[in-house]
Amino acid sequence: MRKLDNLYRQIIMDHYKNPRNKGLTGDENYRKEHIRNPSCGDDVTIETLVADGVVKDIRHDGTGCSICCASASVLSELLRGKTVADALHVSESYVDMIMGKPFDETVEFEDALAFEGVKDFPARLKCATIAWKAFDATLDDGENDE
Ligand code: ZN
Repeated sequence: MRKLDNLYRQIIMDHYKNPRNKGLTGDENYRKEHIRNPSCGDDVTIETLVADGVVKDIRHDGTGCSICCASASVLSELLRGKTVADALHVSESYVDMIMGKPFDETVEFEDALAFEGVKDFPARLKCATIAWKAFDATLDDGENDE
């Protein structure tokens, strides 16, 4: 089994130890989504503030393994300030990359590239994508079952 590249491991540990945009606002203008991954104990909540078709802010909170928590932090930095369409495209491309599927290689993943090696660890795929799926769900304009 191939080990994650050292540099990438450092990026992941940095986000894990010093998470960006951590802590929920509780503001009603934010759309919120909570997802759990029982197999690993990951528990993530994402809050997204959208205005004028742009992702103005992303907050996250929760507990879990380093890959899960770090990817939530990376997501919050990478997708903030993008249009909703761009953010969804980047998120979709990221999940495809993690799942080992063909993906849009023109996307600038920045720190999110650090998670590419996770595709070689099937047990960790959910860890690396759970926050992104929660984020996608916050942008889902459809009828929420609340
Ligand atoms: Zn995990």
